[in-house]
This record gives sequence, C-alpha cells and structure tokens, in this order.
Amino acid sequence: MPNLKVGIPAVKQIIVVTSGGLPLDRFLPAIVYALLALAAIGLGGGAIHLKRRLEQSERDRRRAADELNRRLSELFSLQELSYILSGSLQLDRIVEQVVRYAMRFLDAQGALVALAPDGDGGTEPRPLAVTAAEGTLASLAGRAISPNDPGLVARSLGRERLELVRSASGEPTPLAEGIVAESAAAVPLRAHGVVVGTLVIANPRDGAFAPEDIRLLSTVATHAAIVIANARFFEMVRHAKEQWETAFDALSGGIAVVDDAGQVRRANRALASLLGVPIPAVIGCDLADALLEGSPALLELLAAARRGDRAQPLVLRSGTLGRTIRVNAARIPTPAQDQSVVVLVEDVTDQHAMEAQLIQSEKLAAVGQLVSGVAHELNNPLTSIAGLSEFLLEQKELGSKDRGHLRVIHEQADRAGRIVRNLLTFARKGTSERVAVDVNDVIERTLVLMSYDFQLKDIAIDKDLAPVPPVLGDRHALQQVVINLLTNAAQAVSENPPERPRRIQLRSWADDRVRLRVADSGPGIPDDVLPHLFTPFFTTKEPGQGTGLGLSITYSIVEAHGGRIVVDRPTEGGAAFLVDLPVAPADPPRHDTPEPGGPTGVAAVTPIKRSILLVDDDPAVRRVVKALFGREGHMVEVARNPQHALDLVRTRSYDLILADREARAHDQSFVEQLVESHPELKERVVVATGAGAPAGSGTLRYVRKPFNLRDLREEAARVWAAAALS
Ligand code: ADP
Repeated sequence: MPNLKVGIPAVKQIIVVTSGGLPLDRFLPAIVYALLALAAIGLGGGAIHLKRRLEQSERDRRRAADELNRRLSELFSLQELSYILSGSLQLDRIVEQVVRYAMRFLDAQGALVALAPDGDGGTEPRPLAVTAAEGTLASLAGRAISPNDPGLVARSLGRERLELVRSASGEPTPLAEGIVAESAAAVPLRAHGVVVGTLVIANPRDGAFAPEDIRLLSTVATHAAIVIANARFFEMVRHAKEQWETAFDALSGGIAVVDDAGQVRRANRALASLLGVPIPAVIGCDLADALLEGSPALLELLAAARRGDRAQPLVLRSGTLGRTIRVNAARIPTPAQDQSVVVLVEDVTDQHAMEAQLIQSEKLAAVGQLVSGVAHELNNPLTSIAGLSEFLLEQKELGSKDRGHLRVIHEQADRAGRIVRNLLTFARKGTSERVAVDVNDVIERTLVLMSYDFQLKDIAIDKDLAPVPPVLGDRHALQQVVINLLTNAAQAVSENPPERPRRIQLRSWADDRVRLRVADSGPGIPDDVLPHLFTPFFTTKEPGQGTGLGLSITYSIVEAHGGRIVVDRPTEGGAAFLVDLPVAPADPPRHDTPEPGGPTGVAAVTPIKRSILLVDDDPAVRRVVKALFGREGHMVEVARNPQHALDLVRTRSYDLILADREARAHDQSFVEQLVESHPELKERVVVATGAGAPAGSGTLRYVRKPFNLRDLREEAARVWAAAALS
C-alpha cells in the first residue's frame, strides 16, 4: 500500500525534533500517549484519503472500460455498416443505413442524408433531395431543398469540411426551412473530388459533439460518400444499359452481335421476328446459315468487319426467308482476342419492290411516249390496208389466187393492227373507263374464252375464287391483264416435261384490296430474267411466240387502276403473279354491264341509205370509209377540214358523223366543238381513236383505229338503231 508507507516517515521526523532538553522518563508515558494519539490521528486521515483515491480510481477504471466498450461497439457498428454498405448498390438502402447508423453512433435525436442532383443538369442550380431522414428530422424525408436555402443542410454542400453548430444563446440553428436543432453537425459527402451530398446529425447525446464523435462521423461520411458515388455510377450504367436494351429491341431493323465463330450472341426482337423464331432460339445459331444459307458474300462481309474494313452493305434475296435483305456489319471495339461484330439486318423487300416499281414506271413512261407516237403514225396506214383489203375480199369477181394474196395482206394488216393496239394500251395513261367491275366475272369470262386453248394444251385449271367487292376501272383492260397472265402461264406449263403436270392455279380473294393470283407449274423464272420481266419488248420466246409486251402492258393497266403487280417464285416451283387492286368506293359512277347485244342484234336493222359526214385528214382512211359505205349505198361527204365540217353540219343533216379524235379546229377538238354547238348530234357521232375511249367519255361512241370493216359497220348500225328508237 504505497500511501501507508508515506505516513510512517512523517511520524519519525516528529520524534527527532522533540528529543532535545526534556527528562525522558517523566514525560515518556505522556509522550507515548501523545505519539499514539498522533499516530492514531495520522492513520485515520490516511485511510480516508486512501479510500477516496480508491473510489476515484474505480470510477476512472469504469469510465475507461465504458469508453473502451463504447469504442469497441462503435468499431463493430462501423464494421457492420461497412459490411452492409459494401453489399448493396441500391442507393435508397445505402442512405437509409447511413442515417440509421450515424444516429446510433452519436446517440443523436435526428439524422438525414441529402443528395446533390445527379449528372449534368445544365447551368441552373438544382435542388438537393433529402433521400433519407430519421428521428427529429424525419419530416424532411423526400423533400427537395433549394441550393439557396440558408439552413445548414444546403450550406454544408459548399463546405470543405464538417461544420458544427451549437447555439450558445439558446437560439436553435435552422437546418432547412421549418426545421431547427440545438446543436448539429453536417459533413459534406465527398467522393472522387465531387460532393455527392451531405450527412447531417442533430442533437447528439449530451447536446454536444465530442472529438471522438466528430472523428467517427467523418469516417462514416467518407465511407458513405464512396459507396453512394459507386451506387450512383452503377445506377447510371444500369439505366444506360436499360436504355440501350430498349432501343435495341425497339429498332425495326434486326441486330445481332456475332462472335468469331459466326454465332449469334445477342439478337433483338426484329431479327427474331424476321427469322420467325423467338429470341432464345436465335442465340447460338449461325447467322450466315440462318439468314442466307451460308452465303459466301455474307461470310466475306463478316470477315471484312472483323478486320475493321468498311465493306459495302449486301443486298441479297434470302431463299429461306423469301425476303430481300440488306446486311451491314461493323466490328465492336473490344480487346483484340475477341472479334465480335455487330450485324444490322433490314428487310428491304417492300422498299425494293417500290423502287423497282418506280424505275419501271419511269421506264414505261419514256418508252410509252415513243411508242404512242409511232403507233399513232401506223394507225392510219394500217386502217387503210386492213380496210381496203377486207373491202376487196368482199368483191365477188376476185380470182382465188388473188383472194389468197389479199387474205394474207388482210391478216398481216390485222396482226400489225393488234400489235399497234397493244402498244397503245401499254402507252396509254389512265384507264379509259371507270365503272365498277367484278374481277371474278372478268376471270370467269376470260376462262371461257381461253378454255379451248387450255384443253388443246392439256392444261388443268385449278380455280378458287372467293367473293370480292368490285373494283373501279376498265373491264376490257382488266380482262387484258387476266389474258396476259394466263397466256404466259399456259406457255410456261406447255414447256413442262411429260412427267410434270401442266397446272394453272387461279385464286381471288379480298382483304383491304381485291387480290388475284395466277400461279403455274411451269419452269419458273430464272434469276437473269427476273429483273427484266416488266421491261417492254423483253421476251425469251421464239419470234412469233412473244412480243415482250404482255407483262409491260399488264403492268401499265394495273398501275393505271391504282394497283400493283408482283412476281413470286413459289418454293414448289413455277411462277406466280400477284395483282392487287383498290376496292371501288361505296358509290361508284355506274355498274359495269357485260358486252352489249353484239353484231347480230344491230345487223338486223334494215339497211337504209344514210348520209355520212367524214372528218379525217388522212386520204387513206377517207378512201376506206368512202369505199365501204359507198358500196352499201350510203352517201359519204368528206369535210376538207374540221372547220369545213362545222360549217356543213350547220346547213345539212347527217345520220352519222365519223370524226378522227385528233381533228382540231382553232386549237380545240372538233368533236368537243361539235357536241357543244350541236348537242342534238351527240348521238350520231362516232369517234375514231387510236387510244380507245377516254375516261368520262359519256355517251359518245368510239371505234378503235386501226378499225376493220366489221367494227365500223357495227358502230354505224348502233347509231342508226339508237336514232330509230328515239
Ligand atoms: P412475252 O410473253 O411476249 O415474251 P411478256 O412481257 O408477257 O412477253 O413476258 C416477258 C418474259 O417473261 C417472257 O418472255 C418469259 O421469259 C417471262 N415470263 C412471263 N411469264 C412467265 C411465266 N408464267 N413463267 C415463266 N416465265 C415467264
């Protein structure tokens, strides 16, 4: 006991001082007594002191132990917090834990974390968001605090280090609008040199922040700032990834990431739907095989992309998909050992068809102009050759040899006439008639017309006609379409070897348009023929077998009806042509009527002598008309020019006025002027035209040049029959 040892030397010292000049034996008992009394007093005082010291030391020890315990518990809590934070990348959860632990460490009444706005928000300062708050600050949770708020929360964001506030005067310190605290600390949360937010603690235990508390708070803040910054970064990356994935899937074009071996690692929805399988089924498949049957051109494109070369996109027809696709590829900048490429796949079938259609239309327009000029020039000579040879053939006194020669002349002129008509049909813009036409009816009638030919060639017709709404157009022109397609199909199947069936399938149906499909079991269309199919005068047939105009005429007619024609090469072989036409509006001008009465009906009218006015400046045509009608006893008057004709009709009456459509007086069509000035003569006019009846031609009658005698007689007979009825 050290304190006891200190008391004894003090007593010894007293003994030495009192030993000089006094008789020891007399005073000894008193001295001993006194000494004992002193010793007793001294011992009693030392014990009290000792007891106090012992108590103090016990208190110190306890405090030290408490402090140690507290620090240990803080250390454990810090470790726990660090463990929780490092295990999470969820920002909300992280800030919640930071607030909870900070409150617990400092035994504070309230805590919050306010985060600075994320990313680049432009020049305007943006508010802080209180992401987590507890205790007395809980009411601030979810609040936005203006960066200009004078309170501690917003202010601390601009501070370099922790700020402590304690009201000495008892005046509380504002933390944010409407929230105060007696004492508070705010630590800016700084990570990678950027302030991401602030941690604010209000009213700690004992109302003051001990230096250890401040150290602890700084430690928590440093750790929290890094974790928050990482979580934000992770959030940013995740968001960017989500955006990228959404865009990847939303793209209408197909995209694939293809590895070194050509296998698909990633694919978007568009690619999967192009391949007709779900996305998981695309992953791992060989892209070149799936798209283009392992096309060497595609493999070369992928190889070029891996080398980093910029190759031209490929446009190829995929047999497996039955579509035309454009493929482009680019290397993904990744470590050298990985040579993944990103491949873009677009379905350009429709675009291609439209482009081809446009080119075709332009080509046809140019050729059409040329053709129509030439055809018009040929019309009149052909009219006279055909007409006069036919006229001569009707002469009884002809020798049989001459008759034979004449028949050849007539047949050839007739053939040339048909070619010219075809040329004009092809060159003509717009449909000549606009009436409601039942496509099925046109098909049925055409089949009847051609049935003999089909029988002869042993061709089976497989017909499947669903009811279709009417289309608006020209019945004859539409019939021409069906004839052309069936003729080609018949010619194609006739080439089949004996073991291959000769079959033509005819289908019609309607959805938003009226559709017709003519498919045959012929040899199909070779690759080199396909691009030229609709080109005028393109033919692979022997001379005399084909003119190369069938499909281009078909194309112009369909186009003039607002329709489309496309060719298909079915997998089972052969060729198929698909025509679609717009449905006629609910109230079309008038309904199509099948062919009128026909020649027999009008021929029955008793011949009467008629007066005929002819308006045509071509002498050859005049000659034919005069010869024909003159021989039948009619009187044909020829006008010198259109003006002369107008003068003539003013003074004389005619049963028939046959006028060339091209005839013009004073820059206006003669027929128009005539009908305007003499509407009563409208019924008696027959217009000779090279291009067929124009749209909206009303009640005017037309005869197509080059006309034959029968056409002319028939039209004349109709005019006279109508006049007789009225
Ligand atoms: P043409 O029949 O007078 O030759 P087209 O314009 O009708 O003229 O046809 C052009 C070419 O298209 C034909 O010569 C032929 O090579 C090809 N073609 C048309 N239809 C078919 C078909 N159904 N099958 C195979 N080839 C066809």
